Amino acid sequence: MIVYGTNAAHVKTDRSTVSTCPNCGENGSLVTSVFSKHAYLYWIPMFPIGMTGGTQCEKCGHTMEGAGMTPEVKEAFKEFKKGAKPKFWQFSGLAIIAAVIIWFNISSNQDKKNELAVLADPQKGDVYDYKVEENEYSTILVRARMGDSVYVSLNEYVTDQKSGVSEIDTKEYYSKERMALHKSVIEEMYKEGTIFRVNRY
Ligand SMILES: [Zn+2]
Repeated sequence: MIVYGTNAAHVKTDRSTVSTCPNCGENGSLVTSVFSKHAYLYWIPMFPIGMTGGTQCEKCGHTMEGAGMTPEVKEAFKEFKKGAKPKFWQFSGLAIIAAVIIWFNISSNQDKKNELAVLADPQKGDVYDYKVEENEYSTILVRARMGDSVYVSLNEYVTDQKSGVSEIDTKEYYSKERMALHKSVIEEMYKEGTIFRVNRY
């Protein structure tokens, strides 16, 4: 199955400024058309890739394209092509990609904002996913909070997968020992990326 390729959309057709057909000598019989090419993927036009077209004689049917054009016809075609614009819908694929990127940015900014709000007001039960060292990830559990002091326990397990930390977030895995961290220290760890995810269940 062919899922990608190129296609073209008609942009405009008009009588050529070249008056005489080089083939049959008829006057005013030449017509020029311009098409906008686009790449497609799964039938979705992705983006335009330039203009193409040709000149045809209405009398004798002689068609000239690319290298087959006489210099005079070629010059006229170039001129005619100048103002031609791709069709709006030929940008569909690019528009979809842009929309997805924008959506991802908005949602990840939203996540960040939510995480910052949770960090600014630590509560018992919050879990911070953090990087222990290269390829070692674990979690920190908030046990209690008093003012700006946050009492936490470290998870005694680590995982080598950033995405796997939720699997070791089990109550029994946390150390019985508690340590106090100033709220600003935790916020700093988040800013520098040591804490990479903030969970409130
Ligand atoms: Zn002709």
